[in-house]
Amino acid sequence: MTKEIKLTIDGQEIVASEGQNILDAALENDIYIPHLCHHPDLKPVGACRLCGIEIDGGKMTMSCMTPVQDGIDVKTDSPAISQARKIALELLIADHHMDCLACAAASDCGLLDTSAYLGIQPDRLARLRPSDKGLPIDASNPFFQFDPNKCVVCGICVRTCDEIVGLGALGFINRGFKTVIGTFGNKSFVDSICESCGECVVRCPVGALAPKRPQFPAREVQTTCVYCGVGCGIYLGVSGDKVVSVRGDRERPTNNGNLCVKGRYGFKFINHPDRLTTPLIKKDGEFVEATWDEALELVATKLADRKGEQFAALASAKCTSEENYLIQKFTRAVMGTNSVDHCARL
Ligand code: SF4
Ligand code: SF4
Ligand code: SF4
Repeated sequence: MTKEIKLTIDGQEIVASEGQNILDAALENDIYIPHLCHHPDLKPVGACRLCGIEIDGGKMTMSCMTPVQDGIDVKTDSPAISQARKIALELLIADHHMDCLACAAASDCGLLDTSAYLGIQPDRLARLRPSDKGLPIDASNPFFQFDPNKCVVCGICVRTCDEIVGLGALGFINRGFKTVIGTFGNKSFVDSICESCGECVVRCPVGALAPKRPQFPAREVQTTCVYCGVGCGIYLGVSGDKVVSVRGDRERPTNNGNLCVKGRYGFKFINHPDRLTTPLIKKDGEFVEATWDEALELVATKLADRKGEQFAALASAKCTSEENYLIQKFTRAVMGTNSVDHCARL
């Protein structure tokens, strides 16, 4: 059993778990500490220098890199902390293309949130030399694009692809002020080993990695991805009568919110105009529309003629477990054969 640790943050007594870092413990208890490079799914690295704290009146330390300890007194703000944060953030903003109105991340941007929290003033920014970055945008991926001019080099995408996806498609290129994120050999995303899962895109705290055509749903429906036997939990975003977005369900233990490229981006078939909505029966070499009664009658007649080893069933991951159970039961008990398989094994 994990040991409980009692500490005080800004005068509030909290209970954390042994090994937890102070930033996560604070956030879990609704105490906000600014941060850009931290994500609860990833190992902390202390790169953005925004989450500074003071422990028992000592020197500033990064809360994401400091484990909780019994009896410590943590302060999340002081004149020294505030000044250090503002300088770190102003330097990031000065090196960032600020076209917020046209940015896909404008409604959910870590840079805007931390700027508002720290009260960054335009007159202080005016004294800094603005970014002259003119790096090309990589729009080669069909689902998302990468704008290095907006990247804050937090490394969340690099760690996501490495720690969660296990692919390591991304890394840091160059050093110091010229550091950028790129694929191995600095190839375009589409020519790299990237599998387009979008896990880095959903974790990017700014608009550097962003969906190409973001759409905002009016409501969401909790359901299960129909593509394969993993059965990842998803929320389908709906606007009117159309599905416009998918996000992973973090509460579903099958996938903890993670998705592959099919589950995240392959939802267009749902409202595609070419999708079949009525049965088709071949007559005189041509498919013609039929009623469900006609189609079921035809299938029942044909099945009755093909019992035994003339018959085999291939079940679908798009069906529920109960439907798949019925398919194997029907194959064995009614059609009299064990020739049954499932597409999830392919
Ligand atoms: S989309 Fe997925 S595979 Fe591609 S770089 Fe991002 S995390 Fe890695
Ligand atoms: S692309 Fe996004 S997640 Fe990756 S380093 Fe830049 S800001 Fe961070
Ligand atoms: S998101 Fe990918 S892995 Fe998960 S169920 Fe769908 S197809 Fe399978």
